[in-house]
Amino acid sequence: MKKFKLWILYHYYWNKIDKLQKKYNICNMYINSKNGKWCCRRDRYQEVNGCCGGCNHKNEIKGCETKSLYCKLWLCDIVKEDKKLQEEAKVYFDYLDYVQHRMIELGMPFCFRANFKESFCKEQGEN
Ligand code: SF4
Ligand code: SF4
Repeated sequence: MKKFKLWILYHYYWNKIDKLQKKYNICNMYINSKNGKWCCRRDRYQEVNGCCGGCNHKNEIKGCETKSLYCKLWLCDIVKEDKKLQEEAKVYFDYLDYVQHRMIELGMPFCFRANFKESFCKEQGEN
């Protein structure tokens, strides 16, 4: 598939997952009243910096400043092991599975903490 079509699909899937994330709020994102920073349920229970800690795309106030489909598909163990949540948000988890399979079928570039351009460059071995 041509790079432009992959780019369109990449953004389509990213936007759709983003909408579902907002609807189901599986990560239970909240602004910590003590430090004014975005945190997730893993922060709350384990006092760690979610799955965005140390990422160059993270803005402490605004949150993520890019569109990484890899990150949209990634789930930590706390979310993966929460069976009740998976029942409640079945539509969300099923859609993640669907997109993951589509990405592989299409040969879509998706890399850890990378947007489409960065993922494509990494997979092509470009800088
Ligand atoms: S996947 Fe886990 S660590 Fe990442 S934002 Fe969600 S709850 Fe936090
Ligand atoms: S690119 Fe991924 S790890 Fe980095 S801030 Fe965005 S969602 Fe978090």
